[in-house]
Amino acid sequence: MRAGFPDFRLGTVLATSFTGTLSERHGNAVERIPTPHRLIDWLAVNGLAVDSCTTAQLDLARELRESIHAAATAAAIRDALPAAAVQVINDRSAQGRAAAILTPEGKRRWRLSSASCVEDALSVIAADAISIIAGERDGKLALCASPTCQAAFFDTSQSRTRRWCDMNTCGNRQKKARFNANQRKNPRSAE
Ligand SMILES: [Zn+2]
Repeated sequence: MRAGFPDFRLGTVLATSFTGTLSERHGNAVERIPTPHRLIDWLAVNGLAVDSCTTAQLDLARELRESIHAAATAAAIRDALPAAAVQVINDRSAQGRAAAILTPEGKRRWRLSSASCVEDALSVIAADAISIIAGERDGKLALCASPTCQAAFFDTSQSRTRRWCDMNTCGNRQKKARFNANQRKNPRSAE
């Protein structure tokens, strides 16, 4: 981790972890991949290590990120998928050459076509987004209940009733806000 940059929020779903690199979209937005190097860091953490990244490639990544966010949001509220977002996701998916590799330990890892191919890494993320939005995976797309966040997340809970994209941040903040509001309404209950 590099000092001075916002931390990453690590989730278990690649595509929505990626959209989570911009948080608080409806409040004071926090950009978690502000520089090409931070994208390199994020990709490394997520099993997609690349050696280099240009600002043009960072732009591609952010364009893909916002397209996944738009399409996943539409899917979560059962709206028509925005055509422009679908186009970007498909372009990124088609323009990478990443291969799924089975390790001797029985794990899946990604092999990119060359060490500097951000496009390959983005194609893996795009394909992950497609599998979620197409409803191929066990889970449900939903929107975070925090009004300043509203991030699309993939709910894999048994009951499919998860309300927040992230329990440690949005979930906690909402709980605290409700607690404070209740205290204002009933000041005596705090004593
Ligand atoms: Zn949230």
